[in-house]
Amino acid sequence: MRITTRFAPSPTGPLHLGHAFSALLANDMARASEGVFLLRIEDIDQGRARDHWERQIYDDLTWLGLRWPQPVMRQSERMSRYAAALIELEALGLTYPCRCKRADIELAAGAPQEGVPHFGPDGRIYPGTCRTRPMSDRKAGDVIRLNIAQAAALHPNLDFKETAPRHIGRHRISPETLCREVGDIVLVRRQMGSSYHLSVVVDDADQGITHVTRGEDLFDATQIHVLLQHLLGLPTPIYHHHRLVRDEAGKRLAKRDDARAIATYREAGKTPNGIRAMVGLA
Ligand code: GLU
Repeated sequence: MRITTRFAPSPTGPLHLGHAFSALLANDMARASEGVFLLRIEDIDQGRARDHWERQIYDDLTWLGLRWPQPVMRQSERMSRYAAALIELEALGLTYPCRCKRADIELAAGAPQEGVPHFGPDGRIYPGTCRTRPMSDRKAGDVIRLNIAQAAALHPNLDFKETAPRHIGRHRISPETLCREVGDIVLVRRQMGSSYHLSVVVDDADQGITHVTRGEDLFDATQIHVLLQHLLGLPTPIYHHHRLVRDEAGKRLAKRDDARAIATYREAGKTPNGIRAMVGLA
């Protein structure tokens, strides 16, 4: 099967070894199948995205030997697509405006109870304070949330296929788990016009992605994406959640970890093959 996959960084800092691994792996999987490797710039967070980081993404990936078709998809140019997807979810009666700030949510979540998860792939599990507000009550500064219980009830039998060795197989998504361990996710963030979850689902479909290759830290978020794909009538790709590159202390690398930035290795005289060897892809 010819696969179409993508690397989708946010231009909010330098790419590090973990990004190099993710991009090279996606590229290698696409090339091995004579498929297509695409690049997408995930820059909906315009408060944090910077042009110079985007330019450096192009420079670093080109230096690593990667090539991709033009033009590159940039999320900041696709806000009308996300707005259209939101309207579809709204028409299903699954959305509501939420005015809760972080402190309100902490307060409403109450004291920790044993055995009840408090954090899911979208952060603190929302206690539901605004759930009964109608969309007509939407005010400037509100976020928009998905009523996950109602959404999951529409699609009680979801699953997705995973090809990474650590998670290989078909994974069922249960409505109970979505309600208990994910909660009402944010579809539109404050001052953003969208969210990671909404954008990624619309973009993967519009780019014709057959295989999503990304870090296993996003494994739990995939159930949200599969649910959104079904609500929006979009295809579900095959997923490959790869291992994370960690530092000597076993901690996953972060954007602020300049010591492991691709650019730092490049300036220090490392070669692209040296980087491949470092991440275990030589
Ligand atoms: N922009 C996301 C990141 O940098 C991409 C996640 C994905 O591949 O879906 O983590």
